[in-house]
Amino acid sequence: MKFEIKSLKKREGIKFFTNITVLLILILPFTALLAASTLSESLSIGLPIKGSLMKGEVIPVKGRGYNLLESTQKEKVRFGTRELVMTIKSAAFKVSKNSPGANLQVGDLSSRKGGRLDHHASHQNGRDVDLMYYATLKNNKSVKAPRFTAFDKNGYSVDPPMKYKFDTKRNYLLVKELINSDFSEVQWIFTANHLKKLMLDYGESINDSPGFIRKAKQILKQPKKNLHWDHFHVRIYCPENDIPRCKDFGPVWAWNR
Ligand SMILES: [Zn+2]
Repeated sequence: MKFEIKSLKKREGIKFFTNITVLLILILPFTALLAASTLSESLSIGLPIKGSLMKGEVIPVKGRGYNLLESTQKEKVRFGTRELVMTIKSAAFKVSKNSPGANLQVGDLSSRKGGRLDHHASHQNGRDVDLMYYATLKNNKSVKAPRFTAFDKNGYSVDPPMKYKFDTKRNYLLVKELINSDFSEVQWIFTANHLKKLMLDYGESINDSPGFIRKAKQILKQPKKNLHWDHFHVRIYCPENDIPRCKDFGPVWAWNR
């Protein structure tokens, strides 16, 4: 009799644990799903030139390998999709790891809820960012990249003349980290044709992968209206989770189809 009671208790115990296990098996995927959805809850709506942003992620003022321009902080245009913010942070970090001392100056992203901004036609839905060019002094000494300084075809600053040099190697590294990002697919990196040439010539001089150089040739582009000789403008495609409310326009590169 004692034995039966004991084994009954044991069976009840087993049943209890089986129930808990079943419950956990049922609940866990939902918790994981919940965690994943809170990770990417930002939502880019509409087009970069006519759109808005929901639950945009704010980029910290400083991080490893970068800091925000003061004007960007002041005007509170530091919101992006989570994907864009991660792309910037990770690329800046990797450049600074590969090339110690590199510090990227990050300009405007979007406002908290997106929409029209005073100084930009796009930047409306958390998928655009302006990045200053890495620069050195004439003697190749690394400096904090100057704010919106234009560089000529030989890589020297126009104003102040000849004071700064376009840091071709670091700018090329940045382009590479952006294009190869695990966090987003980059559609455009606007830059002046003469700076694009400096960077791609550098890539060829170090025998970088022809596949990557072909990609960079398409993604780096001088837009018709703005030369972009004083900063990069980066645009990412709609994050997958934000489609169909998020809209892309322009080319879809072969490797993204
Ligand atoms: Zn821009």
